[in-house]
Amino acid sequence: MKAVVIEKPGKYRQVEKEIPVPPAGWARVKVKAACVCATDLEVIDGNIPADYPLTPGHEWSGIVDAVGSQADEKWVGKRVVGSNDICCLVCEECRSGNWRNCSSFREIGFRANGAYSEYLLVPVYALYELPESISWVQGALIEPMGVGLGTMDKSGLRLGETLTVIGAGSIGLNIAAVAKAMGAGRIIVAASSRKRLGFAQMAGAAKTVATSEEKLEDVVREYHRGGSDVVCEATGSMGCFHAAIHCAKKSGRVLLAGYGSRQKTEFVPDEVHIPNLKIIGAGNNWNMVSRCIRLLEYGLIDTSFMATHFFQLDQYEEALTLTRTRPEGFLKSVFLFD
Ligand SMILES: [Zn+2]
Ligand SMILES: [Zn+2]
Repeated sequence: MKAVVIEKPGKYRQVEKEIPVPPAGWARVKVKAACVCATDLEVIDGNIPADYPLTPGHEWSGIVDAVGSQADEKWVGKRVVGSNDICCLVCEECRSGNWRNCSSFREIGFRANGAYSEYLLVPVYALYELPESISWVQGALIEPMGVGLGTMDKSGLRLGETLTVIGAGSIGLNIAAVAKAMGAGRIIVAASSRKRLGFAQMAGAAKTVATSEEKLEDVVREYHRGGSDVVCEATGSMGCFHAAIHCAKKSGRVLLAGYGSRQKTEFVPDEVHIPNLKIIGAGNNWNMVSRCIRLLEYGLIDTSFMATHFFQLDQYEEALTLTRTRPEGFLKSVFLFD
């Protein structure tokens, strides 16, 4: 089978490999669609923990084509998506549902081979059946949608509350799309340039702000009358962290949903203390797949517009270059398989 392998940070290529055999409790999935995520570039560049050699890819859909145990035969032939979470299932954290805190936790696409490949191995406990009404591409987009859903869960947003999202990448747009479905009022999406703000409107933004042209805090304070109930920072930039604090209204919630590459910043604690702001970390979101499937199946949300460019796996260089250069009209590269 064909697979893209990162041998070590900065060094990757497509190789021909043996088709993997699923061990007991695992399934082999024939990949149908795999999206490229900006996080994959961090894996390629060696900026986040990963086990090399590694096939990246954590946003995928496919068909189960083999299982390791007879007891799991019923999965063979099923359309599936999956959680990427591999854990022990027996420790206290796993049993309490907090399996991402498991000491043996690892994630497909980071510390186990992912979906830039014709086949991948997934634990059977992580599989979810994908209804016929949901396309392969929309199925592969469930993983980033789960980040949006988990972030909004943590925000505690109630019907009609105002929201500002800073960042119009995949995470920011998924947050906006979920928030729209949840009944957020007057969603503002901000980005440094106008390049992606058309997509923000498709995700449900009532107002878009290019921060190169307007001062975000001024726009937010006027449009949301004194600030937003909820502000989601989805870029990881320190400047945007400060902007997020300044956009929240008194007693508002600020969600940190962007990876900051371990940068440091100074801030004024009184700006949090005096207005009673809540700053909430939103970097880990799990157990979202079945709810995302339901949201899609019931027609409450549709994020398929986020897949803008389609490729065969052989064209991985082009797919990755677009993810890096982010030209106008581009949002996400997707590998399609026969
Ligand atoms: Zn991703
Ligand atoms: Zn465990």
